Amino acid sequence: MKVYVENITLSTSKRFELIDITHRVEEVVARSGVKNGICLVFAPHATAAIIANEHELGLMQDILETIKEFFPPNKPWKHNVIDDNAHAHVASALIGADRVFPVINGRLVRGTWQNIFLVEMDGPRTRREVVVMVLGE
Ligand code: ZN
Repeated sequence: MKVYVENITLSTSKRFELIDITHRVEEVVARSGVKNGICLVFAPHATAAIIANEHELGLMQDILETIKEFFPPNKPWKHNVIDDNAHAHVASALIGADRVFPVINGRLVRGTWQNIFLVEMDGPRTRREVVVMVLGE
């Protein structure tokens, strides 16, 4: 079995932001040479998440607004006694910092309306990383 890894690095410019990394992930899959297997997309961060959904600007705002409603930054979180980003930690814990996609015939499988996003919830950050690991034959 082949194991191929690349890190995607990016910066974010807002406190809450969706960064579309679909094409960068697909480029990694192409470079991996894996024909059939899986692709793990993992953000090694406690205040960000990875999701797959539609790249439509209204919906992207809806997703970010919903995250803020579910995990309001100004709630009296206990973690905010020592930091100011508890909302982002809790959201990352519940949304998840990773997604897995099938790779079939050399292509990452996703729905037409499933782009891959890093969810920034404690930006702006000069450096965020996404680990892309492709496993298969
Ligand atoms: Zn913190």
